Amino acid sequence: MDSKISYPKSDHYNGETFFNPWGANNAKTIWEAFKWKMTTKPALWPLEITNTIKPIFVQNGETSSLHITYIGHATTYIQDSKLSILTDPQFSDRASPVSFAGPKRIRKPAIEIENIPALDFVLISHNHYDHLDLPTLSALNTKFHPTFIVPLGNSELLKSVGIEKVVELDWWQKHENIELVPVQHWSARGIRDRNKSLWGGYVITIDNQKVFFAGDTGYGPHFKMIREHCGPMDLSILPIGAYAPRWFMKDQHMNPEDAIMAHADLNSKKSFAIHFETFQLTDEPFEEPRNILSDEMKKKKILPDDFFIPQVGETLLVSP
Ligand code: ZN
Ligand code: ZN
Repeated sequence: MDSKISYPKSDHYNGETFFNPWGANNAKTIWEAFKWKMTTKPALWPLEITNTIKPIFVQNGETSSLHITYIGHATTYIQDSKLSILTDPQFSDRASPVSFAGPKRIRKPAIEIENIPALDFVLISHNHYDHLDLPTLSALNTKFHPTFIVPLGNSELLKSVGIEKVVELDWWQKHENIELVPVQHWSARGIRDRNKSLWGGYVITIDNQKVFFAGDTGYGPHFKMIREHCGPMDLSILPIGAYAPRWFMKDQHMNPEDAIMAHADLNSKKSFAIHFETFQLTDEPFEEPRNILSDEMKKKKILPDDFFIPQVGETLLVSP
């Protein structure tokens, strides 16, 4: 959607488009995308996988630990005794502007929308179709009327499907205990709206713990900035997939080695891997993100508990 709204200029907005202020390349050209498609061959992924793990949800608001469930791709469900939050909810069959083409999910979400126990907040990191899916958002709005939090320039799109409770944030702005923070990425839904809306991650203070949700990001200096600004994290939810080929993806998507550096930069007690084994967006083999992350953790003596690599449906319980 074309946004005609303008915002005050800042270190990441020039009056027309948003950019990563530390100079990382925001988005590849159409020629680079063409070169990628002509020169590489994606690994063959399984066509369909059946989820076998049942999430553990908080019952009747009674819990002393945070519950974080991997619903699939960048969708996580975060609960404490009072609040329930979904990140980048994508429950559709495809991550695409149309229902008949585009990346197709190889497995169902860990839970259907009608079985979600409760929902107070929906956090959206940016407008790419694998993170912002209007049919999903519309269905969640009808059932739960949650508050939707989006980076600058995205509220118009949500309002176009009848969502009214939308809060738009700039980097380092807060709504209650939820703060939008910088990540290294870009935005576009069509060919004429490149970087017209902002992207970001979120630092959520919940249950006396600090949780960072990264959305989509390349590796960059922003993780240290976030730690300096918000303090060390109790849990960081970090993308580990959609990274090959590196020459094309490096600036926009971390690989497992990058995610380990981010975990260290954030001084995170624990991390939780996302953005893998759901939609095939790039060339790497299905299980490579999981396997490389786990090998690198062994080399760096990071315990499996300290960087959790969930199966879809798996819930991590974190206590202060
Ligand atoms: Zn993206
Ligand atoms: Zn993504």
